[in-house]
Amino acid sequence: MTAVQSQLDALNFDNKFVRELPEDPKSTNKRRQVYKSCFSRVRPVECSAPKFIAHAKEVSEMLDLGEEILDKAAFAGVFSGKDQLPGMDSFAMCYGGHQFGNWAGQLGDGRAINLGEVVNKAGQRWTLQLKGAGPTPYSRMGDGFAVLRSSIREFLCSEAMYHLGVPTTRALSLVETGDPVMRDMFYDGRAKNEPGAVVCRVAPSFVRFGSFQIFGARNEHEELKALADYTIKTDFPQLGEPSEAVYAKWFEEICVKTAELVIHWMRVGFVHGVLNTDNMSILGLTIDYGPYGWLDNYDAMWTPNTTDKSNRRYRYGAQPEIALWNLVQLATALTPLAKKGVFESGLEAYGEAFNSGWKTMMAQKLGFKNFDEQTDDHILKELQSILQIVETDMTIFFRKLADFNVFDESMTTTDQLLAPLLEAYYIETELSGENRNRIANWLRIYKFRGAQDGGTVEERRERMNRVNPKYVLRNYLAQEAIELAEKGDYSRIHKLLEIMRKPYEEQSKNEEFAKKRPDWARDKPGCSTLSCSS
Ligand code: AMP
Ligand code: MG
Repeated sequence: MTAVQSQLDALNFDNKFVRELPEDPKSTNKRRQVYKSCFSRVRPVECSAPKFIAHAKEVSEMLDLGEEILDKAAFAGVFSGKDQLPGMDSFAMCYGGHQFGNWAGQLGDGRAINLGEVVNKAGQRWTLQLKGAGPTPYSRMGDGFAVLRSSIREFLCSEAMYHLGVPTTRALSLVETGDPVMRDMFYDGRAKNEPGAVVCRVAPSFVRFGSFQIFGARNEHEELKALADYTIKTDFPQLGEPSEAVYAKWFEEICVKTAELVIHWMRVGFVHGVLNTDNMSILGLTIDYGPYGWLDNYDAMWTPNTTDKSNRRYRYGAQPEIALWNLVQLATALTPLAKKGVFESGLEAYGEAFNSGWKTMMAQKLGFKNFDEQTDDHILKELQSILQIVETDMTIFFRKLADFNVFDESMTTTDQLLAPLLEAYYIETELSGENRNRIANWLRIYKFRGAQDGGTVEERRERMNRVNPKYVLRNYLAQEAIELAEKGDYSRIHKLLEIMRKPYEEQSKNEEFAKKRPDWARDKPGCSTLSCSS
């Protein structure tokens, strides 16, 4: 036996989802409606020339594969979907969803194929899922494939989010397939071939709100109950045996986890871009990295998704209310499981968890020890304004705020107050007149409030730097890595992966990756806005 086989042999498959849940009785891999089923068995396409690009060592370790990939060719064969390992039992999941506020019926894994579940030595269960490995019965109009640019974005962002402490699906690997994929990136009739790629995503479960909605919408109550009971027993075992009271408690947990997730997105300036109910994880993970983006300049109205440009349903500032809207849809789908009104407590729990969690998070970003209702409501409200009256880089603003010496009583003039923050501003000339005074006034109040907490400059900085990242996967950074990779140079992918491992640390050699968005990237596709074409 070669070293490679023995390395991949460490994957201990135990495919509980397919073993315990209702399966599509038909086995044809044709686009169709699939009723009364959680999944369809399907094999990935055998691509022609799989090529290893990158892997996340933390994820391979988590799966007991060790840090390094010993035989990259063999690894690429398996994680492109070309080769199967003993114990794999591949399948695509059935789900529905609301897209942009409208019920869209059956969606499902149209280009995701689960390879199976691995139980590691620590007893954790991880589902391995390939994105872009070919069509399934749920592919609708799509081809089942994914292009290199969107796969790089998913691979890097999943891991960047993990290291930022944001709940997320993980990414084991990024592999090129060697096969072209035709995409019309701008939806303007100029379709062209792009390199195809596959990301292997990893999560305890890929079940979505839409996984329950499809059964609710079709009145398939037996299957609804089967999936709910399965999810509770597998992913929420602490809740005990499913019952009406347990369903209510379970939904409450989903609501609280979702609130916590959105608070993290707001903290780091992440905009998901497509918060359809099929893109909401039942575990409160960030899932389905498509036309997502990071705020460079703080703008609550911003969305990266060009498809959503006119309504901006999924803009940064709307994420908290959209998550709640999505939870209401989930509650509606779960209604057949319990008496009317049972799920209301969960929706209330969302409101409470979000409101108190958001305040705590914002207080932490500002370096306050606690949120003080007396003063901080006003401070936060005015902060929302001063961040938007002039173009202000969100990440740099909060990071620099840690250098602002709230204890220095000699710091009183507008120039002195603004000096530590100048780097965060995009357009110098905007920082004048009324704007300048308003920001300085906020800083005066902030300084007074900050000093009340006591302590030292160093303590404050240390506390703030733990929640305010220095490095985020700015849209233009990912785009630069993509353009290099499309020319065959993968080095920037590796470099970004390395930098994003320590987003809260100062990395003196990588200062250039912490700079604000350069002017050339302001309106460039990929750097500012993205289409859903991926
Ligand atoms: P998304 O907005 O990326 O979450 O996708 C919505 C639905 O479209 C999901 O059911 C996806 O599986 C499906 N889908 C997206 N892209 C493709 C594709 N290239 N081929 C097949 N299905 C796709
Ligand atoms: Mg999706």
